[in-house]
Amino acid sequence: MSAPETPSAKIDTTMKIGVLALQGDFDAHRLRLEELGAEVVLVKKPEQLDAIDGLVIPGGESGTFLKLLGEEGFAKLKDFVHAKPTFGTCAGAILLATEVENPQQKGLGALNIRIRRNAYGRQIDSSIRQGLLGSSPIEMVFIRAPKIEHVGEGVEILATEGNDPVAVRQGKTMAATFHPELSEDTRVHKAFLELVGDALVEQTRGLFSGKPSLSGELIRNRRTDSGQ
Ligand code: GLN
Repeated sequence: MSAPETPSAKIDTTMKIGVLALQGDFDAHRLRLEELGAEVVLVKKPEQLDAIDGLVIPGGESGTFLKLLGEEGFAKLKDFVHAKPTFGTCAGAILLATEVENPQQKGLGALNIRIRRNAYGRQIDSSIRQGLLGSSPIEMVFIRAPKIEHVGEGVEILATEGNDPVAVRQGKTMAATFHPELSEDTRVHKAFLELVGDALVEQTRGLFSGKPSLSGELIRNRRTDSGQ
């Protein structure tokens, strides 16, 4: 019997998406992104960042991520998130922020938000709630979730739960305080893949006009990879 055709076989894409795989729930993201047709790389070493078009930073424990990254890993990740599309969920959202509270810790500064770790307290440390993505209802799984306490200039609110912003975007950076990889709804990951697709188009335009629109170094790596 021949293998059933997977949905990904029908999607024509060359997108290579990395999932930071130091700890946390990276595999659920891998499955979702593959289901949507992306090629997924589990990123365990900083140099793997050179070969991907976008990155997902999963949930986990943001303080542990910082320890595992070390100074050098953090610096390399910071360069990446300022050059290429990145999507952080929960602990990933905390890492991407400019300001982190409870306790204070450093952030990558790609999202102009103030975020509070473990903001819902111990009693309700996990819950499934219904929120709004734009104006349509969507299931949201929260696990020891942070709260976005302040949204600064340039940040667009993509999703809300009650009065709280729970998914945001600034330029090519996206974050959610919930875990879309744990629900069946694929819309949030699709939105991220669209962001990556747009950045690739922009990058190609930059190459043709001689003015790279994203990091020059990353583009040079891409040319070397393809032997041009
Ligand atoms: N509480 C975690 C932190 O502060 C985040 C929880 C999660 O990623 N599910 O980093």
